[in-house]
Amino acid sequence: MSDTKVYLLDGGTLVLDGFHIFWNRGPGGEVRFPVYSILIEHAEGRFLIDTGFDYDHVMAALAFEKPQQTKDQTIPGALKLLGLEPKDIPVVVNSHFHFDHVGGNKYFPHAKKICHKNEITQAAQPEVFEVLGYSDLSFSAEAAEARGKSDQLLEGTTAANSQFELIEGDVELAKGVTFIYTPGHTVGNYSLLVEFGTRKPILFTIDAAYTEQSLKTNNQASFHIDPVAGVRSMERLKALAAEKDADLMYSHDMANFQTYKTGTQFYG
Ligand SMILES: [Zn+2]
Repeated sequence: MSDTKVYLLDGGTLVLDGFHIFWNRGPGGEVRFPVYSILIEHAEGRFLIDTGFDYDHVMAALAFEKPQQTKDQTIPGALKLLGLEPKDIPVVVNSHFHFDHVGGNKYFPHAKKICHKNEITQAAQPEVFEVLGYSDLSFSAEAAEARGKSDQLLEGTTAANSQFELIEGDVELAKGVTFIYTPGHTVGNYSLLVEFGTRKPILFTIDAAYTEQSLKTNNQASFHIDPVAGVRSMERLKALAAEKDADLMYSHDMANFQTYKTGTQFYG
């Protein structure tokens, strides 16, 4: 644990209206926000949490989110900056299956993949208001087939090599790397607590709180399945951060992201 390193893989940016980011509160207007994945180098192995968005998918399905992504901001490009290739990643964990967290899963047919036990069934049969969130189904042959979207699958993606190991509740995946169950945003949303030997823990809210302001005001994004659970999850994250004296990091907060270490810089 003492040599745990956390890298943030910058995945580019998207745009949403402020009323989507701050549900029923706003202010409205275009807000450009970052998307990133988390790479953990750990004594027990290398873990990738989330895989960003696929530019072509967003242009085809949600062009109104105005994606911007350089080659270095694709998952293979971001890994290359660290001297790595997708084959060097043995374990991929998806916090949930929204399109901006799964777009690069297709590059990891060899990896062990992990998610909450209810996320695949939800992506396969989303509520009507979740259809666009769960629009990139290239991460799972099972989900893509259920939605009649097998054309999204890369050649070579099969039920077997896109199968997930299912988890529930809080799960410590490796010593000091704990997935914190924070439902509300989706049925199976996970946040992530990383504890180090050498520095304060980091609590990644992931989409339980897009921004610092979201968490401070218990104001979740308009994308959710259970807003009451979403508020409880935010309260839980604040209590956990206080208990662990952890630094909080947010999933889609441009002002904070600009202060985060990315590329070859790391936390640890
Ligand atoms: Zn999400």
